[in-house]
Amino acid sequence: MKDMNNRVVLITGSAGGIGLEIAKAMAENGYTVCLTDLNGAAVTLQANLLVEQGHLAIGIGCDVTDENQLKSAIQHVVAAYGRLDVLINNAGVQYVSMIEDFPSERFEQLVKIMLTAPFYSIKHAFPIMKAQRFGRIINMASINGLVGFVGKAAYNSAKHGVIGLTKVAALEGALHGITVIALCPGYVDTDLVRNQLGDIAKQRNIEVEHVLEEVIYPLVPQRRLLDVCEIADYVIFLASDRAKGITGQAVVIDGGYTAQ
Ligand code: NAD
Repeated sequence: MKDMNNRVVLITGSAGGIGLEIAKAMAENGYTVCLTDLNGAAVTLQANLLVEQGHLAIGIGCDVTDENQLKSAIQHVVAAYGRLDVLINNAGVQYVSMIEDFPSERFEQLVKIMLTAPFYSIKHAFPIMKAQRFGRIINMASINGLVGFVGKAAYNSAKHGVIGLTKVAALEGALHGITVIALCPGYVDTDLVRNQLGDIAKQRNIEVEHVLEEVIYPLVPQRRLLDVCEIADYVIFLASDRAKGITGQAVVIDGGYTAQ
């Protein structure tokens, strides 16, 4: 479906994992794609690969915790393509520790990446989207934004917070053609999950290759990790005109996790 020829999307944290898969899927669906990430070299490489395949894409290095960098990435996209139709606040990191041992600076950093940064980017995208009378904003939340998890004080707080931010932005954008959605995936097969397997293996005293089968899958009714392309497919729908009535919601794709 190549029906999005004039639409422009900016995705934060798109050097790999979910963000990169969304970038590829949106390019395939006719969007002009701006990939941004802390790892500027990686997003430039990925953007060049998309261009070689005939898509319109650019890569911009951007630390989302720096409001000026986010603002200039947004301005760069509008200067290059004249619009910003879809903003996907996807950058995220995980850190696991019990509250009493949680380094305070780590807590503040995680909240800055996954809650303050979406506020910055919405703040700077809103005037552009309001002038266009069109915008789609998708904030990557998580099932960690809906229920608590031991050891994830910062991640849970940021993801719960971004659902609150989503509701306020949805109300403020409602009469301007802007929808704002918090997408809440369960366990998805990316580095963010795979990087935790070693720690879990140590804690449980089991082999790392058994952690998925013995620890993670039993938590999920479908007994599997989600694939990044399932998240990207959902994003394609949420960014489309067919989803224009969905706003201010936390929408869930979790293999049944939160039904328990
Ligand atoms: P990932 O680690 O594969 O990708 C995260 C990306 O964010 C990386 O490319 C990283 O460089 C980038 N990033 C980190 N800090 C940044 C910063 N300060 N500025 C710019 N970029 C930065 O992780 P993923 O699994 O693809 O996660 C993407 C999003 O989806 C995150 O917000 C995560 O919380 C959310 N999520 C993931 C899962 C999962 O199971 N993988 C589940 C629910 C939600």
